[in-house]
This record gives sequence, structure tokens and C-alpha cells, in this order.
Amino acid sequence: MRTIMLIDMDYFFAACEEIKRPELKKRPTVVGADPKMGRGRGVVMTCNYIARKYGIRSGMPISAAYRLKPDAEFLPLDYSYYEKKSAEVMSIIRGYSAKMEQVSIDEAFIDASGNIADSSGAMEYAKKIKKSVREKAGLPCSIGIGPSRLIAKMACEDAKPDGIRLVDHGDEKAFISGMPVGRLYGIGRKSEERLAGMGYDTVGKLANANIMELMDAFGSFGVEMHKYANGIDESEVVENYEVKSIGRERTFESDTDDREEILRAILELSGEVAAEAAKLGVSFKTITVKMRYSDFSEHMKGLSIRPSSSEAALGGTAKMLYTANVEKGRKLRKIGVRVSGLSDYKSQKRLSAYLSSE
Ligand SMILES: [Mg+2]
Repeated sequence: MRTIMLIDMDYFFAACEEIKRPELKKRPTVVGADPKMGRGRGVVMTCNYIARKYGIRSGMPISAAYRLKPDAEFLPLDYSYYEKKSAEVMSIIRGYSAKMEQVSIDEAFIDASGNIADSSGAMEYAKKIKKSVREKAGLPCSIGIGPSRLIAKMACEDAKPDGIRLVDHGDEKAFISGMPVGRLYGIGRKSEERLAGMGYDTVGKLANANIMELMDAFGSFGVEMHKYANGIDESEVVENYEVKSIGRERTFESDTDDREEILRAILELSGEVAAEAAKLGVSFKTITVKMRYSDFSEHMKGLSIRPSSSEAALGGTAKMLYTANVEKGRKLRKIGVRVSGLSDYKSQKRLSAYLSSE
């Protein structure tokens, strides 16, 4: 019998800040862009549970968070510290299973099938993991347990904060069928609205939908969502050492079409990305520039070059991609530089690329 666990750190960046300054545990703490007295741009990356009481959420504009609680602690991101804590946590988790897949800076699946006999064993095992993450890394996490990655992921959302939720073999469908369809893994807001329009507002209703109808509306994704709605997910936990891309983005203080300012940002971002690649010991082949315009529409342009680790090659190509593709007369809200097609990966533990943007 398969037993998959998802270990997901709670309010990770803010929890890391609480280690540095324990007094933050008693204060609403927000990690993200500089609020600049409510005029700042960019978003909340993470906040602690006290901040959530005031309605602050990750992903919300930092200016909105500021309006909700102007005297909260607003902190900038300290990437290198979070990477260090992430590496600590991941090496603790890795000790509990031969099969671990890190999916973001603060989340990992393990396949614990070989480590436990039954569901009470699974519960005990998860408690041990949680305790050692808490004691060794000083950080809270939640754990979802189920027969598949899908169910482990959804159980983990239920477990938050600081909890463990186990869904037994055979109980998958009962666990998810009453949920609103938007809570099903992979269903975004658009799909959710479309499904609701077709009469499928709960996972249970979607599970009984006609596959052909879903295929007509969503293509092969329709087949996948139907499987998920029925609690079926056979995908394996895959040990991943490989960093797939490295990227950095910047939101401008105000929307701009000032070529000098934009080129300067591109060069700075290229420098940061090249430094990250050097730290990881990788060269890159594909360079992509992302332009987000003031109306939030987004254009990406990429180009492959001979594998390189040169900051000059990266910066030059990124500048060229911008110049050749930017739409004249439109202002940019945000610019991003990303490299992929990485090779010569040296250090297996550094997965800092997951810390991509903002
Ligand atoms: Mg998390």
C-alpha cells in the first residue's frame, strides 16, 4: 500500500524571521515588498498567523496589507537565510525516506510506504518528522498523508496550521467529494468558474461528470481533472536534484517606459541570476525576458545561446530581447530575467532556484 506524505512549512518566510527575532511571534509580521507608507508596489510573500487575523494574506498587494495593519512588522525578503533554513529542513526530511521530492522552497513529498505498516504507524511517523523539524530547525510545519500525492496535498491544506491530517486508503473520495471544485488540485479560478457554469460546483459532482463533456471543454486536462475528482492519482514521488531554472523579477516603483531605467533593471537582474548560477555551478542555455505591462498583460521572449555562465552574455542577450520585443509606447509594470536549460549541476542540496521571483 502506498503512503505519501506532503510536508509543508507553515508561513515559512515569516517563521524564519521569527527565529531571528523571537519577539515577532507576538506581532503581526509581514514579509514582502516595502509598503512605503501604503504607496509601495509588489506583494505580500508570507505573513504569520497574527497578521492573518487582520485579513492580511500572501499574494495580496503590499499596499492593501498596509491599509489593514499599518503598524505590522513589514520585513524585506532575506533569501539567503530562507535558503539556509530550507536546506536544513530538507535534509531532516530526507532522513525519513529514501524517496523525497522537493516541490518548492518549503514543501516536499516523501513516499513513506516502505517505512510504515499501517495508518497508525503513518500517524506516528508523521509526528516524529514534525517534531524533529520543530526541534532541529525550529520551524512549524503541517503534514498531509494519503495514498497519493493528490490526497496528501489536499490533506495538508486541511492540516494547516501546525497539524497532521491523514486520509486512509479507501476514504479518498469521501474526503474530497464535498469540497468546492476550486479546492481540487490543479483547478484554478478560471476552470472553477467554467465548471460551475456547467453545473459542477463540487468535487463530487465533477467526479460523476461525463468525460466527453469535460474533454470538449478542457481537452486532455478534462480527463485529468475527472481522475483527480475521483481521487485517482498514480504519479510517483520522484527524487529531484535538478534545478530547472533560475529567475529574478522586479516591479517598478511606478509603471515606466524609460529605456534607461528598464535596461538598468535588466542588467541588475542579470547580475543576480548569473551570481546564483555561479553559486550553483551551472551554465545556462536559454535566456528568457518577461515583460509585464501596466494592464497586467504579460509577454515572454526567449532565446537559446551556446551554454554559458557569463554575466555579460546573459545581460547582453536579455537587453537585446527586451529591445527587440518591447511594444513601443506601452509602460512596463514589471520585468523579469530567467535562465533555463541548466547543466553541470554541482551541489545537490541547493535548490535556491525555487526562490524565483519577488
Ligand atoms: Mg508552505
